[in-house]
Amino acid sequence: MSDPAIAVKHVSKQFGETEVLRDISLEVPRGEVTCLIGPSGSGKSTLLRCMAFLEEATSGAIEIEGDPLGFVEGAGGRRRQTPAELRRVRSKVGMVFQQFNLWPHMTALGNVSAALRRVRKLPKAEAEDRAMRQLDKVGLKERAHHYPAQLSGGQQQRVAIARALALDPTIMLFDEPTSALDPELTGEVLNVMRQLASEGMTMVVVTHEIGFAASVGSKVAFLDHGRLLFHDTPETVFAAPREPRLEQFLDTYL
Ligand code: ADP
Ligand code: MG
Repeated sequence: MSDPAIAVKHVSKQFGETEVLRDISLEVPRGEVTCLIGPSGSGKSTLLRCMAFLEEATSGAIEIEGDPLGFVEGAGGRRRQTPAELRRVRSKVGMVFQQFNLWPHMTALGNVSAALRRVRKLPKAEAEDRAMRQLDKVGLKERAHHYPAQLSGGQQQRVAIARALALDPTIMLFDEPTSALDPELTGEVLNVMRQLASEGMTMVVVTHEIGFAASVGSKVAFLDHGRLLFHDTPETVFAAPREPRLEQFLDTYL
């Protein structure tokens, strides 16, 4: 079990002519929180989406706990994984987006249990039982029968976290989970994430919350124009004197 949770190996990504990720190599250790920071448009979401195979790298490879994601190297060269192979690897990875992406016509409980019924093929009662436990974990048991429109943004994001956790991932990816929230609602979401981190969940978090990155992150990765400029402990990355690109970024967000 010495493989890292995620190994990104020389990943580049182009959209047409645009080079969005340039030769990124990065290891995400198990049981730690890696925070991904950088200016808007630097490629953070694309890198995270590649880790969940929502986006395919143009070149390079990504491994999840030692298993290839998307493509397998075999005797006959590189081949695409079968849907079953891909599903098995992807099932280790849960993802939470900036926009919570809840179904508006389903209650909190419905949103969480629907994923369990559809993905895990659980019977209704069992799915709802597990969903309720996850909602309890994010402090929303009392809101289980509310619809998204009846919940605050912070509560909706906690439902989205519960929905991802219900599928039992070993790695959780968060893409600016608090950026769509009013400032007074970010704390409750960050607290749920802090709790998750303290339980040993492996997490990759794209965030502009420098305080969170400094206190919860064990590593901070700084992306700029598709390049990984720094990947180190928060103490090192946030220490003066700084590289101008990073300093400029921190001046904006600190
Ligand atoms: P960040 O999350 O750091 O703001 P993104 O990964 O979203 O950055 O985007 C990086 C760059 O890739 C941007 O220039 C963006 O316009 C471009 N980009 C992202 N997704 C697509 C896409 N599906 N098609 C074309 N260009 C894209
Ligand atoms: Mg983004």
